[in-house]
Amino acid sequence: MSTIVPTPEGELRIERDFVDVTVAAEPDPNWVYTDQHGHEHRYHPGEGDHYPTLVTVMDEPYWCPDCEEEHQFDHLECRLCGEQISPGIRPGTPRKVPGMWAAYLNDEPISGEHADALLAAARESRGRP
Ligand SMILES: [Zn+2]
Ligand SMILES: [Zn+2]
Repeated sequence: MSTIVPTPEGELRIERDFVDVTVAAEPDPNWVYTDQHGHEHRYHPGEGDHYPTLVTVMDEPYWCPDCEEEHQFDHLECRLCGEQISPGIRPGTPRKVPGMWAAYLNDEPISGEHADALLAAARESRGRP
Protein backbone atom coordinates (compact mmCIF):
# COMPACT_ATOMS: atom_id res chain seq x y z
CA MET A 1 0.00 0.00 0.00
CA SER A 2 1.41 3.42 -0.81
CA THR A 3 0.54 6.86 0.52
CA ILE A 4 1.55 10.02 -1.29
CA VAL A 5 2.02 13.28 0.62
CA PRO A 6 2.97 16.55 -1.03
CA THR A 7 5.68 18.28 1.01
CA PRO A 8 7.68 21.51 0.55
CA GLU A 9 10.62 19.38 -0.69
CA GLY A 10 8.61 17.38 -3.18
CA GLU A 11 6.44 14.32 -3.32
CA LEU A 12 6.83 11.98 -0.36
CA ARG A 13 5.73 8.42 -0.96
CA ILE A 14 5.40 5.90 1.84
CA GLU A 15 5.23 2.24 0.90
CA ARG A 16 3.92 0.02 3.61
CA ASP A 17 3.93 -3.76 3.53
CA PHE A 18 1.18 -5.74 5.10
CA VAL A 19 2.09 -9.14 6.41
CA ASP A 20 -0.47 -11.90 6.15
CA VAL A 21 -0.75 -13.49 9.59
CA THR A 22 -3.80 -15.60 8.83
CA VAL A 23 -3.58 -18.92 10.66
CA ALA A 24 -4.53 -22.14 8.87
CA ALA A 25 -7.14 -23.03 11.46
CA GLU A 26 -8.61 -21.53 14.60
CA PRO A 27 -11.13 -22.74 17.19
CA ASP A 28 -14.69 -22.64 15.91
CA PRO A 29 -16.57 -20.41 18.39
CA ASN A 30 -19.88 -22.04 17.41
CA TRP A 31 -18.71 -25.55 18.19
CA VAL A 32 -21.06 -27.57 20.39
CA TYR A 33 -20.80 -31.30 20.92
CA THR A 34 -22.67 -33.75 23.10
CA ASP A 35 -20.63 -36.83 23.91
CA GLN A 36 -21.77 -40.46 24.26
CA HIS A 37 -22.72 -39.88 27.90
CA GLY A 38 -24.78 -36.77 27.21
CA HIS A 39 -22.17 -34.27 28.44
CA GLU A 40 -22.30 -31.09 26.46
CA HIS A 41 -19.06 -29.44 25.34
CA ARG A 42 -18.72 -26.08 23.70
CA TYR A 43 -16.24 -23.35 22.97
CA HIS A 44 -16.09 -20.69 25.70
CA PRO A 45 -14.98 -17.28 24.39
CA GLY A 46 -12.81 -14.93 26.42
CA GLU A 47 -9.44 -15.00 28.10
CA GLY A 48 -9.71 -18.14 30.17
CA ASP A 49 -9.86 -21.81 29.31
CA HIS A 50 -11.81 -22.19 26.06
CA TYR A 51 -12.78 -25.75 26.93
CA PRO A 52 -13.50 -25.89 30.68
CA THR A 53 -15.41 -29.17 30.28
CA LEU A 54 -12.35 -30.87 28.76
CA VAL A 55 -9.05 -31.92 30.27
CA THR A 56 -5.72 -32.19 28.45
CA VAL A 57 -4.19 -35.66 28.64
CA MET A 58 -0.61 -36.36 27.55
CA ASP A 59 -0.16 -39.28 25.16
CA GLU A 60 2.60 -41.87 25.53
CA PRO A 61 5.85 -40.37 24.25
CA TYR A 62 7.36 -42.17 21.27
CA TRP A 63 10.70 -42.14 19.50
CA CYS A 64 10.57 -40.47 16.09
CA PRO A 65 13.23 -41.84 13.72
CA ASP A 66 12.83 -38.85 11.36
CA CYS A 67 13.72 -36.17 13.91
CA GLU A 68 15.81 -38.51 16.08
CA GLU A 69 14.04 -37.30 19.17
CA GLU A 70 11.14 -38.17 21.37
CA HIS A 71 7.72 -36.72 20.51
CA GLN A 72 4.80 -36.43 22.84
CA PHE A 73 1.37 -35.30 21.80
CA ASP A 74 -1.67 -34.62 23.91
CA HIS A 75 -5.39 -34.78 23.41
CA LEU A 76 -8.54 -33.56 25.10
CA GLU A 77 -10.95 -35.70 27.03
CA CYS A 78 -14.28 -35.13 28.72
CA ARG A 79 -13.61 -34.36 32.40
CA LEU A 80 -16.47 -36.59 33.45
CA CYS A 81 -16.31 -39.70 31.25
CA GLY A 82 -12.90 -39.56 29.55
CA GLU A 83 -14.24 -39.65 26.01
CA GLN A 84 -11.60 -38.34 23.61
CA ILE A 85 -12.89 -35.15 22.02
CA SER A 86 -11.56 -32.98 19.19
CA PRO A 87 -13.02 -29.48 19.44
CA GLY A 88 -14.31 -28.00 16.19
CA ILE A 89 -12.02 -25.83 14.15
CA ARG A 90 -12.62 -23.58 11.18
CA PRO A 91 -10.33 -21.95 8.63
CA GLY A 92 -8.49 -18.97 10.08
CA THR A 93 -10.02 -15.50 9.69
CA PRO A 94 -7.91 -13.51 7.19
CA ARG A 95 -5.77 -11.06 9.14
CA LYS A 96 -3.01 -8.68 8.06
CA VAL A 97 -0.74 -6.56 10.19
CA PRO A 98 1.42 -3.60 9.12
CA GLY A 99 4.99 -4.66 8.43
CA MET A 100 8.02 -2.85 7.06
CA TRP A 101 7.70 0.55 5.51
CA ALA A 102 9.95 2.54 3.23
CA ALA A 103 9.87 6.22 2.27
CA TYR A 104 10.76 7.87 -1.03
CA LEU A 105 11.14 11.55 -1.84
CA ASN A 106 10.64 12.18 -5.57
CA ASP A 107 11.27 8.43 -6.05
CA GLU A 108 14.59 8.52 -4.13
CA PRO A 109 14.72 6.34 -1.01
CA ILE A 110 15.06 8.36 2.19
CA SER A 111 15.47 7.50 5.84
CA GLY A 112 12.61 7.14 8.28
CA GLU A 113 13.77 10.23 10.22
CA HIS A 114 13.81 12.30 7.05
CA ALA A 115 10.30 11.08 6.21
CA ASP A 116 9.07 11.96 9.72
CA ALA A 117 10.54 15.46 9.36
CA LEU A 118 8.88 15.90 5.95
CA LEU A 119 5.54 14.72 7.31
CA ALA A 120 5.81 17.20 10.17
CA ALA A 121 6.70 19.98 7.70
CA ALA A 122 3.76 19.03 5.46
CA ARG A 123 1.37 19.18 8.42
CA GLU A 124 2.75 22.56 9.38
CA SER A 125 2.45 24.04 5.90
CA ARG A 126 -1.16 22.80 5.64
CA GLY A 127 -1.89 24.53 8.94
CA ARG A 128 -0.89 27.93 7.60
CA PRO A 129 -3.56 30.21 6.25
ZN1 LIG B 1 9.36 -36.25 14.21
ZN1 LIG C 1 -18.50 -37.09 28.93
